[in-house]
Amino acid sequence: MSLAVLKFGGTSVGDGAAMRQAAQIIREATTRWDRVVVVTSAMGKSGDPRDNVKVTDLLLEAARSAAAGDGESYPRARRMLADKHHAAINATISNADERQRIGDEIDHLLSGFEMLCASVRVLGEVTPRALDAIAGLGERMAARILAGALRSIGVAAEPLDATDFIVTTDRYQSATPLMEPTRERTIARLTPLLQAGIVPVVTGFIGATQAGVPTTLGRGGSDYSASIIAAALDADEVFNYTDVDGVLTSDPRIVPNARTIEVLTAQEMSEMAYFGASVLHPMTIAPLVEKNIPLRVKNTFNPSHPGTLIVHRHEAAPSSSVIKAVTAIKNVSMMTVSGGGLKGVPGIAGRTFMAVARTNTSVLMISQASSEQNICFVIPKQAAPSVVVELSAEFSREMEHGEINPIENFDEASIITAVGMGISETPGVSGRVFSALGARNINVFAIAQGSSECAISMIVAADRCDEAVRALHALTEG
Ligand code: ADP
Ligand code: ASP
Ligand code: MG
Repeated sequence: MSLAVLKFGGTSVGDGAAMRQAAQIIREATTRWDRVVVVTSAMGKSGDPRDNVKVTDLLLEAARSAAAGDGESYPRARRMLADKHHAAINATISNADERQRIGDEIDHLLSGFEMLCASVRVLGEVTPRALDAIAGLGERMAARILAGALRSIGVAAEPLDATDFIVTTDRYQSATPLMEPTRERTIARLTPLLQAGIVPVVTGFIGATQAGVPTTLGRGGSDYSASIIAAALDADEVFNYTDVDGVLTSDPRIVPNARTIEVLTAQEMSEMAYFGASVLHPMTIAPLVEKNIPLRVKNTFNPSHPGTLIVHRHEAAPSSSVIKAVTAIKNVSMMTVSGGGLKGVPGIAGRTFMAVARTNTSVLMISQASSEQNICFVIPKQAAPSVVVELSAEFSREMEHGEINPIENFDEASIITAVGMGISETPGVSGRVFSALGARNINVFAIAQGSSECAISMIVAADRCDEAVRALHALTEG
């Protein structure tokens, strides 16, 4: 029995026309695969310029403004959400009873949204847990409409809330799955439908704790949902449908002439996603590696384009150029802990990163000078003030004695990363990278080479980031 998981991103279900297109792609897949599971994001950007509502963003903004005491934004958000979803229902669902039934379900979910926002407003604060309950409503609405759109074109389909079977930790806003219970429950919930020839249309992005409290897998998490479900069901392939022709050599918003990459290894893709290629959630690849499940990134709006295949064997992904892709993470801060007291004193690095961990901040990149005179690391910019406070407290004694300097914080930084399996194997790559930047007078403040050795990352000034990305992108050609 062959099984494919098809995931559709926000733009791919962004309005009625996009949903109809997605439904056609799914119907076509059911002719080629014995079993098909669909995972959907919340409705995103529409093809119609008059509708610029991205559902998850709007839900989160409404919740935050309710917490700030604003009693007008969330009822307005509800009206906008109702308009967008009802328009999609009218454009995709032909049967009047079905339209009514699904419309009622959307209104019911939206009443829940309004009630949650009203409570948040009374409380005057919104916890990560409440944010997850609110943020996940977009996927619940989209799954119902997409399943209806499928039934309208003769494909048996049923919407499912992943809160029933993706079991996660209680780390709200970036929960991770507990694979064993998730596998058991996913098999138990989906197999009877698949056996009956029904296409399950599962909500991306969301799960629930063991106790049943809703969680989310982090922004962009529907990609991760698709691979969690694929791993749980031992799928043969995952198709990730988005709004560009696959994974490109760089972010097309920075490099307009970025090209589709035909084949990438899982390692290369993981590095790209981790270092800023927002086309896939950074965790997407991990569940697929163990099961050796290939993933194809395709364009909903150009379905005949082959897109990008992500494979698990290095040999299967030959490349003519050593550097395959260049990515960027903007809005980061570079922190430096330095001073004579660092040299030869054990435990400074440990204390540094324990202090950072206490602020609940994840470190994106680390680089230590060989002289041991400084440790430098990169974190998201918004975490910088609390990290400086925590580090200054941790090392207050050493600072008093002049052994450690005041923490330096460079707030206007970006990480740029060149990715490709050949980087560690080919002599002279770093030379080419630094001359390309040097030729444009772009200063590199720190360097790190990931442990997988298929990526090399550099810190540059934020205002030179795009130029630096384009300079390195020129090295992908040839
Ligand atoms: P979806 O809603 O389908 O999940 P996303 O917006 O999350 O779509 O991801 C697709 C977007 O990622 C593209 O429209 C593009 O702007 C952006 N992107 C950034 N880097 C890359 C890259 N290297 N390759 C392809 N797309 C990229
Ligand atoms: N809807 C969620 C978000 O906007 C998840 C996703 O689209 O992958 O972050
Ligand atoms: Mg996405």
